[in-house]
Amino acid sequence: MDFKSFRKYGHELIDWVADYMEKVETYPVMSRSKPGEVRAALPADPPNKGEEMREIIEDLDRIIMPGITHWQHPGFFAYFPANTSGPSILAELVSAALGVNAMVWQTSPAATELEQVVMDWLRRMLDLPEEFRGVIQDTASVSTVCALLAARERLSGFEINEKGFPVWPAGEAMRIYTSTEAHSSIEKGARITGFGGENVIEIQVDGKYAMDPEALEKAVEKDIAGGLKPCCICATVGTTSSTALDPLTRIGEIARRYGIWLHVDAAFAGSAAILPEKRSILDGIEMADSFVFNPHKWLFTNFDCSAFFVKDPAALIKVFSIDPEYLKTGRDSEVTNYRDWGIQLGRRFRALKLWFVIRYYGVDGIRDRLRAHLELAQEFRSWIEEDPDFELLAPVHLNTVCFRFHPEGSRTSEKKLEAINQAIMDGINASGKIYISHTRLGGRFCLRLSIGQTYTTRDHVTGAWGIIREHARAAKR
Ligand SMILES: *Cc1c(COP(=O)(O)O)cnc(C)c1O
Repeated sequence: MDFKSFRKYGHELIDWVADYMEKVETYPVMSRSKPGEVRAALPADPPNKGEEMREIIEDLDRIIMPGITHWQHPGFFAYFPANTSGPSILAELVSAALGVNAMVWQTSPAATELEQVVMDWLRRMLDLPEEFRGVIQDTASVSTVCALLAARERLSGFEINEKGFPVWPAGEAMRIYTSTEAHSSIEKGARITGFGGENVIEIQVDGKYAMDPEALEKAVEKDIAGGLKPCCICATVGTTSSTALDPLTRIGEIARRYGIWLHVDAAFAGSAAILPEKRSILDGIEMADSFVFNPHKWLFTNFDCSAFFVKDPAALIKVFSIDPEYLKTGRDSEVTNYRDWGIQLGRRFRALKLWFVIRYYGVDGIRDRLRAHLELAQEFRSWIEEDPDFELLAPVHLNTVCFRFHPEGSRTSEKKLEAINQAIMDGINASGKIYISHTRLGGRFCLRLSIGQTYTTRDHVTGAWGIIREHARAAKR
């Protein structure tokens, strides 16, 4: 592509992006595409001859866009936010243009040093302990795998890295503890790092869906008595279902007492700790060995960008560093080589978008936006509580409300309630106006409304409440 064409289509596509952002509300939030529809519209074989940009852009509009679910729609209330923003998109464009591989310091000193700076900024924004050091990973799933590997190696004296499994006889397996509400990435991580899914012990939760530390301690003691080896506790700050908050201080004390690695998964809700009035969700974090939260969820930074912090970077580096001749540089003793902080060798220049975002909004600007989401969630909670036909199913700590339609006075069975709420949700999502999702808490099917999209305003939330009530009323008839 010559530079003249690049400029022409570049300007055109920036307009395309700006138009998209401006008119995203005109699309149905959840894609109406049927399985196989997009594939069927595309040729099986790649083109032999190059095609015109014009045609490619036309097919983008015609074939791809109908198969997009609009996460950036202000009516996107499903799962968790994945909120992007103007500064983030522009930085990502620059990062793509630079196309650097930030595997070691020398392959782009600015990429490494900016990553160090923005991770220190995030550490200060969240008021994490002074000694924590950060690295950007692609996802929380991978950050957690890194934490599990570091925990495993610390406990095995770095033997499994060298000798492979098993270092200990069967019956002395290493154990991971997490709550029944923890994210599935913990079990997936345990499977692929060789612990085995069976060695993930799910600790019961209390009435607020937070890990019960007494049950944790009992499980640890039982394992020790049985000859098993407690290795890692994965606590969650802001569970995916209901943003439940595991009590870090009490869990941290147990981790300390038994010498267990404490990993804190705040992938979804960690951003809230940027607010001084919410920082208490991380009380006890000083006892953690590792911590992860995703700016690509709720910090106006487009996917992917997961912020992973460790207390002892030397231990992490010992797990991951491997030193082939062709990667050696004369500076290795003086600099940080992020290839030694995780699984990948090649690394995208992700720090750039965080830098753009934090500078453009400023910490105060970010706080204002997060605060607005939290206030809207509380307002939505109050509407649920005041409406006799609806029921709140979990405390609203942050930006997510779990609720269901449960008509007053009805003695509808759980099974029937589930079918009604499922039908309400399907109807709402098919309407295309908003998109919500569901979960199960204490066996009960619940609807979830999660507020965190960049352009969601109070009008969108009142609109959502109207749509939900309308569909519920129809179900009642
Ligand atoms: C979303 C989420 C994850 C997984 O995040 P990825 O970055 O998609 O791997 C892990 N833990 C919690 C609590 C989450 O909400």
